[in-house]
Amino acid sequence: SVPASIASALSAGARRGLLMKGGEVIEAAARVTRVAFDKTGTLTHGKPAVTDIVTLGSATEAQVLAVAAGVEGGSSHPLALAILRRAEADKITALPSREAKAIVGKGVEAIVGDAKAWVASPKFAMDAGALDGLGLRRATQLEDEGKTVVVVYRERQGLGLIALRDEPRADAAEAVRQLRKLGITPVVLTGDNPRTAAAIAGGMGLAYRAEMMPEDKLEEIRKMSEAGGVMMIGDGINDAPALKQASIGVAMGSGTDVALETADAAILRDRVTDVPGLIRLSRAAMANIR
Ligand code: ADP
Ligand code: MG
Repeated sequence: SVPASIASALSAGARRGLLMKGGEVIEAAARVTRVAFDKTGTLTHGKPAVTDIVTLGSATEAQVLAVAAGVEGGSSHPLALAILRRAEADKITALPSREAKAIVGKGVEAIVGDAKAWVASPKFAMDAGALDGLGLRRATQLEDEGKTVVVVYRERQGLGLIALRDEPRADAAEAVRQLRKLGITPVVLTGDNPRTAAAIAGGMGLAYRAEMMPEDKLEEIRKMSEAGGVMMIGDGINDAPALKQASIGVAMGSGTDVALETADAAILRDRVTDVPGLIRLSRAAMANIR
């Protein structure tokens, strides 16, 4: 049977939009010493907006958007949705595409017209030989401004860069402060590049690990777990393995169903300060048992 203090913490949590899948979650949350945050959709709103479109070679802005929207048409990634919103706002029709495939943590490819086209990270585009030194420097400048940059290219021809900015949640810095006060070390794990990560995480005084593929996040959580309880907060499909590996996986409520299914707890109101809140609630419940 569940001790009364745990049962009442579970229901007190539920009233505040903190859903926990059982009393073990309270026990584990009380023992957590580190918290790993995904960046996109967790520390930030996960609603990036297009801020800059830079054309490469002889492409026009309209062509860049038409190809990008075609490639991203079937994707539900936050970057894809932002690009589609911008194309719609600019009244640009997406070029028809087929056989779209996500390259997890890197981008999307599809066949547009009779050629393969991509919307992908500058690193991936560089490796594919589709981004030259000049394009890379421009991408780097935009990333230093805290923006995420994707490269739009067809075959190996760079068409343009699209920069997107995803604003930090208003209470993220406060949540980090509260976690420190609880003696907990917070860290950000992100698939984004180190410059964007530095601009966002550094602004909150947070340590970060960038360019992490889903399996890297998993491995990092595994390593962190050797030194004590780790809570992982995430939203995306690609966070599911890391959420599962952590002592406690917590899904942000507006995240995907996969994250919600895998997680041990969910924060329904998208408040980052609910993370230290959950830990305080759990510690108080456990203190009442002992
Ligand atoms: P995060 O860990 O910040 O949630 P993701 O792992 O989802 O990031 O994505 C990492 C990077 O992969 C993005 O910054 C982007 O460069 C690229 N990427 C992923 N999905 C897409 C997409 N649908 N369109 C363009 N780029 C993408
Ligand atoms: Mg994500």
